[in-house]
Amino acid sequence: MDFTLSTEQQMIRDLCKNFVKNEIAPIAEEMDETGHFPYEVWKKLGDLGIVGIPIPEEYSGGEMDWVSMMIAIEEISRGDASLGVSLLDSVTLPMNLINTFGTKEQKEKWLTPLATGENIGAFGLTEAQAGSDANAIQTRAVLDGEEWVINGTKQFITNAGLKHNSLVIIAAVTGEGSGTKKRISNIIVPTGVGGYNFGEKYKKIGWKASETRELIFDDCRVPKENILGNPEKGYNQFMMALQTSRIGFGAHSVGLAQAIFDVSLSYAKEREQFGKTISKFQAIQFKLADMIMEIELARLMVYKAAWQKDQKENYFATSTYAKVFASEVAKRCADKGVQIHGGYGLMDEYPISRYWREVKFEEILDGTSEIQRLNIAQKVLKL
Ligand SMILES: Cc1cc2nc3c(=O)[nH]c(=O)nc-3n(C[C@H](O)[C@H](O)[C@H](O)COP(=O)(O)OP(=O)(O)OC[C@H]3O[C@@H](n4cnc5c(N)ncnc54)[C@H](O)[C@@H]3O)c2cc1C
Repeated sequence: MDFTLSTEQQMIRDLCKNFVKNEIAPIAEEMDETGHFPYEVWKKLGDLGIVGIPIPEEYSGGEMDWVSMMIAIEEISRGDASLGVSLLDSVTLPMNLINTFGTKEQKEKWLTPLATGENIGAFGLTEAQAGSDANAIQTRAVLDGEEWVINGTKQFITNAGLKHNSLVIIAAVTGEGSGTKKRISNIIVPTGVGGYNFGEKYKKIGWKASETRELIFDDCRVPKENILGNPEKGYNQFMMALQTSRIGFGAHSVGLAQAIFDVSLSYAKEREQFGKTISKFQAIQFKLADMIMEIELARLMVYKAAWQKDQKENYFATSTYAKVFASEVAKRCADKGVQIHGGYGLMDEYPISRYWREVKFEEILDGTSEIQRLNIAQKVLKL
C-alpha cells in the first residue's frame, strides 16, 4: 500500500495552493460580503486546467484521475467555500454525467466549454416536495414530435443562473417505471431556451458567492437529442453522479476544516493570556490535536473513495463514509476553532466566524447525514 501522492497529484496540490494564495485568499472575505461570484477567477481555474482535470483530452480536459480532482476541490475550498462548491458541483454532477453517459456530439457541444471553464454547469434534482426523497420529483418531460416539453419547478440549484452557466441537467419524470418507481430521465436544458426561467438568488447564511436558484419550466421545449444516455436509467445515472459528488463534498469539508485549523493554530500562537500564548495551555493543545487528527482521517477516507472510483471498484460505501465523516469533522473543527478564538471568534472580522456559518451546509447538501446513515445501514450493512 502506497500513500505517496504521484508527481502529478502533488503538482495539482501545489498549483491550487499557489492559486488560492494569489487569487482567492485576497478576495474571500469580500465574496462573502458582496455575494459576487468572481467569473474571472473561475476562468483562470479553467485556463490552468483545474476545472477539467478528470475529463478526456479529446474534450479539453486533463485526463487525470479523480484523486487529483479531489485534491483540487480540497485546496480550492480551503481558499473559499463558494468557489469550492461551484467547482465540485460543475465537475462531479453535470460534467461527470455528460462524460459518462453523453454521446460524442453532446460531449463536443456541452462538455468541452465546461472543461475549459468557459462555462459553468448545474444539476437539478431537488423540488419542493422532493428533497431527500428523490423519487418524489414531479417535473415532467413529454415527447412531442422532435422535442421534449418540460413542466415543473426545481429548487435550491447551485450554479444555475450564473452569468456563464450554460446548462442544467434536470431529472424529469418521462413515464411509468417498474413497481412504485417512476421512469426518470436526465435531460440537458440550455440556459436561455424559451419556457425556462430562474427565480431570484436565495439569500443564504454562507457560501454566499455560490449562487443557488429556483428553476421554473413552463412548456419549455428542448430537442429530443438532449436526453442523456438510456432514458430508462436516469435514476441510476444521477445516483452514480451523486456518489461522485459525495466524495467531492468530503473533499470540500476537508478543505474547510483545514482552513479552520490553519487560522485557529495561528491565533493560538499569537493570543496571550496569563503571560503566555494560549497555545501553551493544554486545553487548547488538545483541541488542536483532535482537529488535525480528525482532518487527516477524513482526508484519507476521501482519497480512498476517489482512488476506488479511479480503479473502477465499487465506491458506494467509502464515498458515503467520507461525506458523513468529513462533514461532521468540519463542524467539530468549527466549534473548536471558535472556542479557541474566544469572543473574537464571534466577530465578523475574523474568518473563523464565516467558517462557522459555512460548515453546516456540508451535513445537508447532496443527501443529509441522516440519509447517508440510512444508506450505510440499508445498502452497506443490508439491515
Ligand atoms: C445551498 C444549497 C445548494 C443545493 N444545491 C443543489 C443542487 O445543485 N442540485 C440539487 O438537485 N439540489 C441541491 N440542493 C438540495 C439539497 O441536496 C437538499 O436540500 C437536501 O438533499 C435535503 O433535502 P431537503 O432540504 O428537502 O430536506 P428534507 O428531505 O425535507 O429533510 C429534512 C430533515 O428530515 C430528515 N429526513 C428526511 N427523510 C428522512 C428519513 N427517511 N429518515 C430520517 N430522516 C429523514 C433529513 O435528514 C433532514 O434532517 C441544495 C441545497 C442547498 C441548501
